[in-house]
Amino acid sequence: EYAIGVDIGGTKIAVAVVEQSGKITSKTAFPMDLSKSPDEVMDEIIQVIQKAIQGQAGKETDLLGIGVGVPGPLDTRTGVVHSPPNLPSWIDVPVKEMLAAAFAVPVLIENDANAAALAEKWVGAGKDSLNFTYLTISTGIGAGIVANGRLLSGSRGNAGEIGHTVMDPSYGLCSCGQIGCLDLIASGRAIAKNGSEIIGQKLTTKAVFELYGYGHEELDRYIDHVFWALGAASVSLVNMLDPEKIIVGGGVSQMGNLLYQHMECYIQTYALNPAGRRTKVVPAELSEHAGVIGAAALCFSTFA
Ligand code: ADP
Ligand code: ZN
Repeated sequence: EYAIGVDIGGTKIAVAVVEQSGKITSKTAFPMDLSKSPDEVMDEIIQVIQKAIQGQAGKETDLLGIGVGVPGPLDTRTGVVHSPPNLPSWIDVPVKEMLAAAFAVPVLIENDANAAALAEKWVGAGKDSLNFTYLTISTGIGAGIVANGRLLSGSRGNAGEIGHTVMDPSYGLCSCGQIGCLDLIASGRAIAKNGSEIIGQKLTTKAVFELYGYGHEELDRYIDHVFWALGAASVSLVNMLDPEKIIVGGGVSQMGNLLYQHMECYIQTYALNPAGRRTKVVPAELSEHAGVIGAAALCFSTFA
């Protein structure tokens, strides 16, 4: 038996055949074309899924279902995607209905951070853990929460949007309408933007971090502020959810130990409960495969 995992993102789409063991048997990825209508893109996805099923021994009979991870906001019950910031033209797209009309198997949908959390729980850094928070620091910041061994998806699958927590109003207006969200301070996009402004030259997130600690006072102060924001957000996660660990994924997590150390240090200093102060911050293990594996996980009953 196997499931199809579909990962719909702002830059690319991936479709994979995933076995009960969490192993990927085959995977196809193609760029997300935002100039195409969602209908056209969904048709493309349906064709890629059909090909994946045809290439699989056992074809339709062994297919348990199709799981989909998409950026939020969405409604997991109706399966409608509500214009995510990274997919602005996807206004109220009935993703689940479109796939259910094309395939005679269950179709399940989750937001992408939640799906990645499930993947880490299944075959990644959360394998032996009943309570953990997966924090993704990529273009934006989000979280997927596993509590008491289950994904905490909320009533419609939108739990965990920690990026839009107000932390420092001096950072101005956020795309969500609030002022000073965590996303404006410490997301990959924000670090590139703020760092470039300070240096006076267009830099990538990675390049901004590489300048840290070389005596540029304003830049060092800003990066310290990034660590403060991520540290304080981690303390909030520990205080609210009492996780065994925080698993960090997303492109910015590649900057590595310095980031994890700062987050752990804040937790050690400020978490309210003494055991909570020992909460580990660890890197995600599945990198770019987390999306499809987590989407497929939705179809296996152990996660339902
Ligand atoms: P997406 O947001 O599309 O899911 P990623 O999870 O890869 O994509 O995150 C992209 C972000 O990660 C970008 O802001 C990018 O600049 C940043 N990034 C990628 N590699 C690194 C690195 N080595 N160090 C710091 N930031 C990085
Ligand atoms: Zn916001």
